[in-house]
Amino acid sequence: MKAFVPQLVYFEPKALEYPLGKELKDKFEKMGLEIRETTSHNQVRGIPGENDLQQYRNAKSTLVVGIRKTLKFDTSKPSAEYAIPLATGCMGHCHYCYLQTTLGSKPYIRTYVNLEDIFEQAEKYMKERAPEITRFEAACTSDIVGIDHLTHSLKKTIEFMGQTDFGQLRFVTKYQHVDHLLDAKHNGRTRFRFSVNSRYVIKNFEPGTSSFEERIEAARKVANADYPLGFIVAPIYMHDGWQEGYLELFQRLYDSLQGINLEGLTFELIQHRFTKPAKNVIQKRYPKSKLEMDETKRKYKWGRYGIGKYVYQNEEAADIETTLRRYIHEFFPNAEIQYFT
Ligand code: SF4
Repeated sequence: MKAFVPQLVYFEPKALEYPLGKELKDKFEKMGLEIRETTSHNQVRGIPGENDLQQYRNAKSTLVVGIRKTLKFDTSKPSAEYAIPLATGCMGHCHYCYLQTTLGSKPYIRTYVNLEDIFEQAEKYMKERAPEITRFEAACTSDIVGIDHLTHSLKKTIEFMGQTDFGQLRFVTKYQHVDHLLDAKHNGRTRFRFSVNSRYVIKNFEPGTSSFEERIEAARKVANADYPLGFIVAPIYMHDGWQEGYLELFQRLYDSLQGINLEGLTFELIQHRFTKPAKNVIQKRYPKSKLEMDETKRKYKWGRYGIGKYVYQNEEAADIETTLRRYIHEFFPNAEIQYFT
């Protein structure tokens, strides 16, 4: 698939006080994109569209270049200690995506150009924990790889982390646009993960993302560039024939990773979950979606901020976990399964 190009770009005036802000303004002007000004990346007005749905779709192809003011990083368990805020929002249209609700009425994509401030804050967190390693997750609120061919802020973060003694970076993507990251001086301190799933899930629920084959082609490039590699299987979803579907996934992964050095390969497993507010939003935005979200079939789990989530019942979750662990042991006996949640 083609790399993302926004239809509309907004700049916060303050963003132009940073080198990356200026660079992006020049770049987007040269690309002939429509550029507007916004006082704050939190309140972008005038995204075209005659109704909510149209505005939502247009917002997903709108890029806002701004300053990250809140420098307190969120926690990011279980995959890392902190979420490093480089961007918010995504151009993908995955039906199940939790950004549907966490971003509320602001589904446009925001990129933050005050990298100096963000890195300074990351340094502080590392110092507090040293000599323990501090892991930073860069894909908590966006698919950062999918926009990085435009901004290169992820690339800079990879190189920043490469120079630290106690920092590690990780992120996950469904996009194939990794070429500019291959020569980054990562020093083995960045784990590059790809999101993979059964054919059924990718076909039905992941429009607007790279295909399985494209993601794996990118994974091969990344592994050949000596990045530690991982896969996240998420959301694991019990569709008809899910056992065969996931078996086929690992078979295809195995076949397409032949000849690649898989030392240190990791897997993370995340079962499908949804919240009540998410269900309402998903039904409005993707009314024809086949995504099954029947609360009566699920187990309710209390969550942060009082918003509980619906996960699979204990027995089903155990079935998913044992089945996927078995497949992974079969095809990738040396891989580490970091968690199932
Ligand atoms: Fe959400 Fe990731 Fe899909 Fe983007 S690619 S819509 S962040 S699930």
